[in-house]
Amino acid sequence: MEQKIKSWDTCNPVDVAGAKFAYIFSPTGLGLVIKVECDVCKRILYLTEEFLI
Ligand SMILES: [Zn+2]
Repeated sequence: MEQKIKSWDTCNPVDVAGAKFAYIFSPTGLGLVIKVECDVCKRILYLTEEFLI
């Protein structure tokens, strides 16, 4: 999963710790939806449970 996210977004982190993604977990009727927001470019990636397998 981490590798897929890294290939989706290649911004350089501004945080000294190297963190740049905010993870938001939202359970829905269709399963768990995970939103990953990049702190650098503010793009949002929507992940579903299938993405994690
Ligand atoms: Zn980005």
